[in-house]
Amino acid sequence: LCPVPSDIEISRSQTPKAIELLAKEIGLLPEEIEAYGRTKAKVRLSLLERLKEQQDGKYVLVAGITPTPLGEGKSTVTIGLVQALTAHLKVNSFACLRQPSQGPTFGVKGGAAGGGYAQVIPMEEFNLHLTGDIHAITAANNLVAAAVDARILHEATQSDKALYSRLVPSVNGLRKFSPIQIARLRRLGIEKSDPGTLTAEEIRSFVRLDLDPAKVTWQRVIDTNDRFLRKITVGQAGTEKGMTRQAQFDIAVASEIMAILALTDGLRDMKLRLGRMVVGSSRTGQPVTADDLGVTGALAVLMKDAIKPTLMQTLEGTPVFVHAGPFANIAHGNSSVLADKLALKLVGEGGFVVTEAGFGADIGMEKFFNIKCRASGLRPNVVVLVATVRALKMHGGGPSVSAGAPLPREYIEENLELVADGCSNLRKQIQIAGLFGVPVVVALNVFRTDTQAEIDLVRRVAKECGASDAVACHHWERGGRGSVELAHAVSKAASQESHFRFLYEPQMPIVEKIRTIAQKVYGADDIELSAESRAKIDYYNQQGFSSLPICMAKTHLSLSHMPDRKGVPTGFVLPIRDIRASIGAGFIYPLVGTMSTMPGLPTRPCFYDIDLDPDTEEISGLF
Ligand code: ADP
Repeated sequence: LCPVPSDIEISRSQTPKAIELLAKEIGLLPEEIEAYGRTKAKVRLSLLERLKEQQDGKYVLVAGITPTPLGEGKSTVTIGLVQALTAHLKVNSFACLRQPSQGPTFGVKGGAAGGGYAQVIPMEEFNLHLTGDIHAITAANNLVAAAVDARILHEATQSDKALYSRLVPSVNGLRKFSPIQIARLRRLGIEKSDPGTLTAEEIRSFVRLDLDPAKVTWQRVIDTNDRFLRKITVGQAGTEKGMTRQAQFDIAVASEIMAILALTDGLRDMKLRLGRMVVGSSRTGQPVTADDLGVTGALAVLMKDAIKPTLMQTLEGTPVFVHAGPFANIAHGNSSVLADKLALKLVGEGGFVVTEAGFGADIGMEKFFNIKCRASGLRPNVVVLVATVRALKMHGGGPSVSAGAPLPREYIEENLELVADGCSNLRKQIQIAGLFGVPVVVALNVFRTDTQAEIDLVRRVAKECGASDAVACHHWERGGRGSVELAHAVSKAASQESHFRFLYEPQMPIVEKIRTIAQKVYGADDIELSAESRAKIDYYNQQGFSSLPICMAKTHLSLSHMPDRKGVPTGFVLPIRDIRASIGAGFIYPLVGTMSTMPGLPTRPCFYDIDLDPDTEEISGLF
C-alpha cells in the first residue's frame, strides 16, 4: 500500500497462522511445543537431541553501521531477508531475534519487531510480555539480591550456633546437610557428611559467608527506564537494624542472568553458570557465589521455561525464534545460542539462519564473534551489514534531529557530499568485520527519500572497501520480494569460503584484550585505566578470572566513548572507568566512560502514544 501504513496497522491486517500449524510445517512434533495462546509457542530443548545428526544450515549475522536517531533497520532487514529466502528463493530459513526490553519500548526507541512489510507478528505480543522470560529473569535476579541482603543481616545478628541450627535444622532430632550444603562444605575443604561432627571452627566457616556490604556487586533489576533507581539506599526500615547500604538498580536486560540465558547450551550448563555467579566478596577478599548463598536450585526453577526459545512468525508466515534480549551497549547484545542451534538444525543443509546483533558492528558484532561464537562453537558464514543513506548523512556531518521536529532538508533531499563523507563509518565497520575473516554483504535499507545517485554511491563505496556485494533493499515497502536481491547476494557469499578467526586469545592479559578491542575495533590510540579498574584487574587475576573474554559497556552512538563523535573518530584515548566480572556468563565487563546500566526516560517518551481501546482491546501507538 502507498503510503505504507503504520507498523501496528500492517501487523494487525495479517491473520497469523495457528502456531501449531507453523510448528508442523517446520518439522516439529506436537510434543515438542508448548503453546502460549494462538500465536506463540515455547520449543522444547529435546529437539536438539532428536536432530543431532542433522547437518546445520548456513549461519548469517545481521549487524549495522553506528546507529543514529534516524534508525537503520537491522530487524527489518533480518525479517525481509528470511521472507525473501523462504518465499522467493524457496529455501528453508529462520530468523533469530532478541526479545525487546520494556525500557526502549516505552522509552525512546520503540519496539523491535521490524517494521513495514518486514515484521514479526503479532507485533504487540512480540513487543510486550511475550512468554514472560524477562519477568522470570527479573524474579531470579532479585531473589539473589534479596538473599544477599538477608544473609548479611542474619550473619550480623546471630551467633554461629544459632545460624547453624537454622541453616541445618534438625528434623525429628536428625540434622542432615542438603546437597547444595555438601557442595559448599567441599569447596571449604570439609569432607564430612554428618552435621554433628563439625568442629566449632568448621561450623564458623560454613555458616559465615562474611560478605562485605561495601563489596556487594550484585544489583537489583527492573525492566523499566527508571533513572531514579540508578543510586538507592536499601535497608532503611527499622527491622533492618540500621544496616543501610548504597545500591542501584540496573535494567533487567543487563542482568547476568539474561547473559547466561543467551549463552547457555542447556539446563545442566545453565545451572552450573547460575551457581558460579559472583555476588560480591567476603571481608577476606574471597568471591561469594550464588552456590554459596544456596539459591542456585531456586534460580533454575524460576528459569526452567525461559530457557526454551519462543516460536513466532513473520508477516509472510516464516518461522522466527525470539529468545533472550541483552542490550549490546551494556551487555553482549545477541539473542540466544540455543535458538540459533535449534534453528540451524531445523533448516538443515542448504537452509539459512539469520540472527541479529545489536547496535553497530563495533559492539554487537564484535561481541557476537568474541563472546557468543566462542561459547557456542558456531561459525558464521556471512555478515550482512545494514546501512541507510540518512544515517550515513548524519555520520558525514548532517545536522542532529530532535524527536517530533520535521527532518532537516539534508535528509530529505539528495546530498551526495554528506553521503560520501558518512561512508567513512560504513568503511570502518566493513573493515571491522574483515578482522574476523567473514564475507560481508552490505544491505542498504532504502527509504522513500533516497535518490538513485545516493544509492549507487553507497553501493560503489561498499564494494571498493571490500564488501562481497552491496545491494539496495526494499523489504519495508514490499516485504520479501523487496529483498530478493539481498537473498541472492547472501546465498552467493555463503558459498564462499569463510576464514573465521577470533580477534584475541582468551589467555591474553585482561589489559591487552581491552586494548586490542579499543585499538583495532574502535580506533582508539590507547586505553586509560582508572585506579579502581587496575585494582579490579589485580583482583580478577588473583582469583583466576583472567582468561575470560571481554564484554565492553560502551555507548552505541559512536565508535568512540563520546556519543557526539560521529563518522570515524580518531585521536582519542578510551577511558575505562570500572571493571566488573560476570563469572557465570563468562566475561569480564569494562565500563567505558560514563556508560550507565540504567537508561532514563526522555521528556516525551514513547508511552505518550501507546493506548488501549477498551471495547476492541486493540493497542495503538506501538512501533
Ligand atoms: P533496528 O533493528 O536497527 O533498531 P528496526 O528494524 O527495528 O531498526 O527499525 C526501526 C524503525 O524504523 C521501525 O519502526 C521501522 O518500521 C522503521 N524503518 C525501518 N526501515 C525503514 C524504511 N526503509 N523506511 C521507513 N521506515 C523504516
